[in-house]
Amino acid sequence: MAENKRDYYEVLGIPKNADEAAIKRAYRTLAKKYHPDANPGDQEAEAKFKEASEAYAVLIDPDKRAKYDQFGHAAFDGAGAGGFDMNSAEFSDIFSDIFGDLFGGGGFGGFGGFGGFGGFGSRSRSHGGPMQGANTRARIRISFKEAITGVTKKLEINLKEACPDCGGSGAKKGTSPVTCSQCGGSGQVTMTQQTIFGMSQTVRVCPSCSGSGKIIKEKCPGCGGGGYIARRQQVEVSIPAGIDDGQSVRIRGKGEPGQNGGPFGDLLVEVRVAEDPHFAREDTDIFSAVHLSFAQAALGDTIRILTVDGEVEYELKGGTQPGTRIRLRGKGVPYLRQPGIRGDHYVTFFVDVPQKMNKEQKEALLAFDAAMGGKLSGGDEGGKKKKGFFK
Ligand SMILES: [Zn+2]
Ligand SMILES: [Zn+2]
Repeated sequence: MAENKRDYYEVLGIPKNADEAAIKRAYRTLAKKYHPDANPGDQEAEAKFKEASEAYAVLIDPDKRAKYDQFGHAAFDGAGAGGFDMNSAEFSDIFSDIFGDLFGGGGFGGFGGFGGFGGFGSRSRSHGGPMQGANTRARIRISFKEAITGVTKKLEINLKEACPDCGGSGAKKGTSPVTCSQCGGSGQVTMTQQTIFGMSQTVRVCPSCSGSGKIIKEKCPGCGGGGYIARRQQVEVSIPAGIDDGQSVRIRGKGEPGQNGGPFGDLLVEVRVAEDPHFAREDTDIFSAVHLSFAQAALGDTIRILTVDGEVEYELKGGTQPGTRIRLRGKGVPYLRQPGIRGDHYVTFFVDVPQKMNKEQKEALLAFDAAMGGKLSGGDEGGKKKKGFFK
């Protein structure tokens, strides 16, 4: 029989020198894919799950791995040394991870799942215990300035709430759910199986009650037995000053309802910030352009510059060159996590060259050129006008 078995390294798809982390990673991926809870009734998946579990049990144990490396499958023939306990620490570690993913209802942004619990406790939780509901997502659009000042918006979405007919129990009015007889209300059942690789004990979600510990005999017609109904509701979204395009605001408890008495998930509202015709933004800095006339740039001027706070007065120095950039301190975007601190506003000056001039304007400019030493030479219009002007 040993001859027909696949190589353990091949089963996990890892090289012979794989370290512990690589073994765990490989098994985690396979277990997630082939776990019976994720593939109910699929014999092939179950066989693959067992094969991977056996390979993992051997390779994760340094002693067994050394024996296997030396003698191959023959190391575990006869004596049944290949048997393993699915409740051992090596497995529960991995399973708490996997069940977090499979049943924990997602949870981005480092929230949700059961990462923090570890060990057997997390396993029994994920097998029928209270679980937080999944997070849901929505999107909202705000203007460039609203992102700077912060804004409260109303969002209309469908939210699930406890069914008013049954109060969330899912049972028809006048009836109530009864304790599940298969699991005695615990929501989980322990299965002991004699397998080709020894005795295996697994704790599974109770198939009769799906982990709730209760059976609903007559379903509530209002919610179809689910206990929750969706209703169009207004949610206030408080968007902090300084939010940037693509960032999300978390509204706790407005996601999917939890299971078996677990809390609601969260609603994550992605904020899309509209572009502005005057301002561009990079993190906490704002950028804009100001167009000057040649005379303004050359002579200097008191100008007004548009900022997100309104216009500010600015003393433009004489001799300002095109492309000069100045900084208006503290006129940028508020720091999200440091109230009161703001980035800066950078202004780039452009000097406009007139595209059309009348006779009078041209003559003034020619006079100016002459006064500057007469750089204009013959050729085009300049030359002709110059001649004309000096006639
Ligand atoms: Zn109901
Ligand atoms: Zn049950």
